[in-house]
Order: sequence, then C-alpha cells, then structure tokens
Amino acid sequence: MNTPYLWHNGRIRPWADASVHVSAHALHYGSSVFEGERVYATPRGPAYFRLADHTRRLFESARVYEIEIGYSEEEINAACLELIRANRMASAYVRPIVFRGAGGLGVLPKDGAPVEVAIMALAWGAYLGEAAERGADVCVSSWHRPAPNTLPSWAKAGGNYLSSQLIALEAQRGGYDEGIALGHNGLLGEGAGENLFLVKKGRLLTPPSSAGILAGITRDSVITLAAELGIPVEERDLPREALYTADEVFMTGTAAEITPVRSVDRKTVGTGQPGPVTRALREAFFGLFDGRTADRWGWLTTVTGT
Ligand code: PMP
Repeated sequence: MNTPYLWHNGRIRPWADASVHVSAHALHYGSSVFEGERVYATPRGPAYFRLADHTRRLFESARVYEIEIGYSEEEINAACLELIRANRMASAYVRPIVFRGAGGLGVLPKDGAPVEVAIMALAWGAYLGEAAERGADVCVSSWHRPAPNTLPSWAKAGGNYLSSQLIALEAQRGGYDEGIALGHNGLLGEGAGENLFLVKKGRLLTPPSSAGILAGITRDSVITLAAELGIPVEERDLPREALYTADEVFMTGTAAEITPVRSVDRKTVGTGQPGPVTRALREAFFGLFDGRTADRWGWLTTVTGT
C-alpha cells in the first residue's frame, strides 16, 4: 500500500518518516477531518477528479469543528498535485487528512495546540472489489445513522466513521458486500461509505442531502450527468421498501465510483444485472476519464498542468 512519498505539514517526505504521537487529540477524541479523492489516467496524463471541490469540503469540515488548517485551499491543491508528480503515479486514491495533534489531553483543544495536515496517495482499485462489476449484495443495517444535530453528517470527520464501521462490520459478518443505513427517521440514508440511488420507472431517486448523509461529490456528479442524459432526478425521502421494489439500485462514492447493487437483503434487484440507467451513468462517468464524455464542468485537473 505504501508509496515512496507523502506530504506532511508542508513538505514531501519519505512515507516511513511520517509519525504521530500517541497523545494526539485526534486519536483520543476523533478530531480529524479528511477527504478521499481519485486521480485517473487520462489521455492528457494523470488528472484529479473534482480536486477543488474535495479541498473545499475539507475546509468546510474543518470549519464545523473549528480546526485551523494553516494552509490555503490553493496550497493544499498544489500539494495534492505535487505528491502525484513526486510518486510518479498514473492513477491514485488520495487521502488528505487534517487532525488535532499532540497538545495535551482534554476534550477542549488547548490554545495553540497543533493541527497537522498530511496527504497520502495510494494505489487503490475498486473499493468493493469485484462487486463493482457484478453488482453488490447489500443489506439494510440494524445500525441507523446519527440524527441531525448530533454528529454533523456534512462534515467528513474521522469520528463519523465509527458509525460506518458498525454498519460495514455487521454487513461483512452477514456475508454481504456492504450495509445501507437508515436515517434517524427510519428512512433511507446511505451506505457505510457510499451514497445511494434507486431507479424506478426511468426516474433516478436519491435521499436528500439533508437526510443525515454525506453530501457526496460523486452523488453530485451523477445528478449532473443524469440531467445531461435526460434522466429525471428526484432528491426525496424514500422508505426502506423502495429498495425492494426498485428497478435498479446503485451506490456512489469516490472509492466505490458507481457500484451496481444486485440484491438487497437477499432479494434480487430488477433482473439481478446492472440495469440500463446504471449502465448509461457508468459509461458517462468513466467516459470522463478516457475522453468519451466531454468535461464541460472543468472537473478534471491534470497533474502536469497540460
Ligand atoms: N457517504 C459516506 C459515509 C462516505 O464515506 C462517502 C465517501 N466519501 C460518500 C458518502 C460518498 O462521497 P464522495 O462521493 O464525495 O466520495
């Protein structure tokens, strides 16, 4: 998993040189915010997908928790690009993380306590493995997502992933590829690390971003691409049974990309094969990286600036 270099507190360093003290605030109190980004191999060379949007979300997550990043968004964007060049990678999964470091124990961060920033670039294929192609077998989790005004779901914070771990561990134990959590109100939310989409009678349905879910950047991209393809999209509350009666179901995320779902709670979705809307959206999405889909939104940032 290691690559030769990572970026830590302002400079590129050998991977093995980065370390964190055991008293780090984030380790005890979950005070980290992070991103997951992808670099794709494109005809113009390696290119980040929606780099500026990911960096913006990182800063917004930090703002919610009053974590001072100490670098500008432009500096973080430049560091992300530099890291891919340093590692000579053609494609990558990139993980920027900002966290409260070693500055004394106690929940309330001490004045002047350090904030650390690191960026890792990893070789990482399909997040859900072969499920990305054949379709994932998922379950509805017995664990719900936190209610609004408990843990803010728009902030991509390390602590939120305790909920994701419970969902993913339960799913794995049951022999599923992934778990889908309901929100505090019992309505559909999202996967442990993915947003959720359903197709019913040619319409694309997805829980609203106010449903206690992460406002995913892939989710936003899919909504944009659907409009481009003339597929009607509705962001609305959906009950659990909508999953069992949908024509198609898929999940989206930077790591998961667009992963078809072939069964929910062992009930087959549609024909059990990725359906036409899922396939059209996957084609449009992956077409961004081989040039078949024009990047009309400026979503790609090449690493070499070409
Ligand atoms: N929900 C959760 C809980 C996630 O961890 C992720 C992955 N970051 C997503 C949704 C999808 O977000 P994005 O498309 O921005 O990666």
